[in-house]
Amino acid sequence: MPHPLLVEAARRAVAAGAPDRARAEALALVRTLLQPVVNATGVLLHTNLGRAPLAHTQAGSYTNLELDLATGDRGSRSSHAAALMARAAGAEAGLVVNNGAAAVLLVLAALARDRSVVVSRGELVEIGGGFRVPEVMVESGARLVEVGTTNRTRLDDYARAVADAAADPAADIALVMKVHQSNYRIEGFTEAVGVAGLAGLGPPVVVDLGSGLLDAACPWLAGGPPPWLRDEPAARQTIAAGASLVIFSGDKLLGGPQAGIIAGRADLVAACARHPLARALRPGALVLGALQEVALAYLDRRAGDLPFWRMATAPVNELRARAERVAGADARLTVVEVDSVTGGGTLPGVEIPSAGVAVPGDHTTALRAHDPPVIARVVDGRTVCDLRTVDPADDARVANALERLPG
Ligand SMILES: *Cc1c(COP(=O)(O)O)cnc(C)c1O
Repeated sequence: MPHPLLVEAARRAVAAGAPDRARAEALALVRTLLQPVVNATGVLLHTNLGRAPLAHTQAGSYTNLELDLATGDRGSRSSHAAALMARAAGAEAGLVVNNGAAAVLLVLAALARDRSVVVSRGELVEIGGGFRVPEVMVESGARLVEVGTTNRTRLDDYARAVADAAADPAADIALVMKVHQSNYRIEGFTEAVGVAGLAGLGPPVVVDLGSGLLDAACPWLAGGPPPWLRDEPAARQTIAAGASLVIFSGDKLLGGPQAGIIAGRADLVAACARHPLARALRPGALVLGALQEVALAYLDRRAGDLPFWRMATAPVNELRARAERVAGADARLTVVEVDSVTGGGTLPGVEIPSAGVAVPGDHTTALRAHDPPVIARVVDGRTVCDLRTVDPADDARVANALERLPG
């Protein structure tokens, strides 16, 4: 550790009247640093653990971030990762910003400031971390026009809002917006309008997909879409159905780095790119490089090899065999059937059958103190390590951490 941090740890120990705690203070400081952890929670997209896992290296070199290598002129930050993502989603153009929330804010600010945006009352979502659609709308300067009810919104509700606005010049409608109910479900007496229906109303339709499933057919998976994806809306099909723009996160079901992707009609994407906020929300070469690799993997139908998709689709019998090896001959450890979840505010209520290793009692603190930290959960009085979210290369580390538990 750098000298000033060691001095700080020593001073803290002395100030506490326990100078021999200096080493413990220094180690506590090390544990606050960003570091790899083993995710044994079974939550594939755990926001506290950085959502989708992704390996990316970048040489310490300059890049053509904004240089057109053909002409030598200034190029566009959107001509690599963003263009490839748009292509993978079947869109004309794309723009990448720092996260999904930034993408929603930018689209509303660039296309609807001082104008109206029509949204169903069933889709005024709050995403974790305080992102609430009505509040983002206010921040962007757009006016929210709510239609329908919490459980039922019909095409007629939208049509009436558009017709009312046509009669009132002050109510100028910029967009019809659809927000994916990412982290909750309304069941029972419900009704919602699909994108194809909304596309006929006139104003451009913007769909905040959230999750970032690229294609409902999952052509990158040999077995096609897994059953747990249910009817999760996908970027390609949403654009094909008539959406003018789609917005999605890079680190949810896309399996890439934290980013927000805006894809769709070239004129609308260009208007977003021109807005002053775009400059404040733009990612650098580190993120764009990682996202470009993800886009290339999708275009090449290799996305099944991305860590997220590899973990999400690992067969249960493989996980069980790994759990048996991790449990080994230790009598305290038992192989258990568990359910993983996608997490990260996606697919609420969906469980993916999995296998793990359980040990009686709550040992989560001891496992977090292991090097590397192992993050597990407690179910029915037992500590469970779900192997679906553990890289097989880390199985020995999990086994080692479990073996060292006292008792
Ligand atoms: C997750 C999500 C967001 C926010 O995306 P971040 O990448 O987390 O900023 C916005 N809208 C919806 C519908 C989402 O599911």
